[in-house]
Amino acid sequence: MVDPLAGIPTDKATILRLDRSHVFHSWSAQAELPVASAEGSYFVDYDGKRYLDFSSQMVNVNIGHQHPRLVAAIRDYAAQATIIQPALANGARSEAARLICELAGPGFRSVFFTNAGAEANENAIRMARLHTGKFKVLAMYRSYHGATHGVIGVTGDQRRWGSEPYTTPGVVHFWGPYLYRSAFHSDSLEQETDRALAHLRATVMAEGGHTVSAIILEPVVGANGILVPPPGYLAGVREICDEHGILLIADEVMAGFGRCGEWFAMQHWDVTPDLITFAKGVNSGYVPLGGVIVSKPVAATFDNRMYPGGLTYQGHPLACASAIASIEIFKDERIVENARTLGSHVIGPELAKIAARHPSVGEVRGLGVFWALELVRDRATREPLVQSHGGTGASAMTAFAAACRERGLWPRTHFNRLHIAPPCTTTEAEARVGLAIVDEALAVADEYCNG
Ligand code: PLP
Repeated sequence: MVDPLAGIPTDKATILRLDRSHVFHSWSAQAELPVASAEGSYFVDYDGKRYLDFSSQMVNVNIGHQHPRLVAAIRDYAAQATIIQPALANGARSEAARLICELAGPGFRSVFFTNAGAEANENAIRMARLHTGKFKVLAMYRSYHGATHGVIGVTGDQRRWGSEPYTTPGVVHFWGPYLYRSAFHSDSLEQETDRALAHLRATVMAEGGHTVSAIILEPVVGANGILVPPPGYLAGVREICDEHGILLIADEVMAGFGRCGEWFAMQHWDVTPDLITFAKGVNSGYVPLGGVIVSKPVAATFDNRMYPGGLTYQGHPLACASAIASIEIFKDERIVENARTLGSHVIGPELAKIAARHPSVGEVRGLGVFWALELVRDRATREPLVQSHGGTGASAMTAFAAACRERGLWPRTHFNRLHIAPPCTTTEAEARVGLAIVDEALAVADEYCNG
């Protein structure tokens, strides 16, 4: 019998040649590094070089690479059921939905499964529009909500520009809090909260609260800088929503499932949204899965009214079985707690010491296993180390990232920032190894500082 996987190439040259010829890549033009294998917090390339994955791939491998219990659960369930269409019931799907609602809290009733984060946001917005009978959506400028037709228009960063003006109508952007580069000229966290809320309130007034269906936000902004909201901000947004009958959609695609040291980042501030979108960390992407967690009132809207949306592969049994296994492993191995204490006892304090040693570090911020170093040319002026992402204008960051990679650390860099997002399972010893490499590599960034 022929092995159906026998054709998968295993040498670096063939993999890169086929990749360049036939794989149409997202955002970038090419793949840099073929990965041979991965385990725990590390992956290995075809030259045998090991990298500590401080990026969790796409900030999604929260459980670490090739967790043996998760791999076994997928293998076992594949032997039982691989595909059952969404209109039929399936045990893995039912139990995954129950478990996920339980983690979200008592106000939530059901899960609309998707294959990924963008589709989750697409459907959350559709639900909010149908539930409220209103059409506008407010989203932050510094945000990323996915790359499908509708939500690329909701996204607040430059990734939207290439799709304009053909995306969703009715989207209005506003500025969220970000004290280090405040849009409101604030000089304290309290001021930033007050001014950011006053700005949001004014935006709602100017757009007409009676036209706004939803405010969507990342509770901790991810790709746009790991922006932790100041105290009182999320509660204030909730209040504005309630005043105007607007739904609050928490996009927890990156921030959820342990990344911020809670099951969901909103729980850190004890604020309850109406809809929660998730993907990535729910099963660490071992099988693609995302979804919308729907509150009781929104779910009730569709009790006797058809919901006009669906996907062939939603609630895929293998994906749902892997979500159940992942959640159970998280509980057994206290992985959320590990992420929380790693942040508060190791990563946060060590980064503060590292920042004190390097003039290129303008700010350190984060929580759990979700941190950013904002790199600058000058601490006083806060001039960013680079003005663009990638390419010739970004040589300082390119050199810094190369210095990390040479030393065996896979970093996640974005514009002038290093994002530190290792798996939630990372041990203290591994975190210290990675932070020591960051410390060394920052000497390269320091060379680009003024003066
Ligand atoms: N929302 C947030 C906050 C994200 O970070 C991402 C992806 O990085 C998405 C949505 C889109 O998710 P996906 O790429 O799975 O569609």
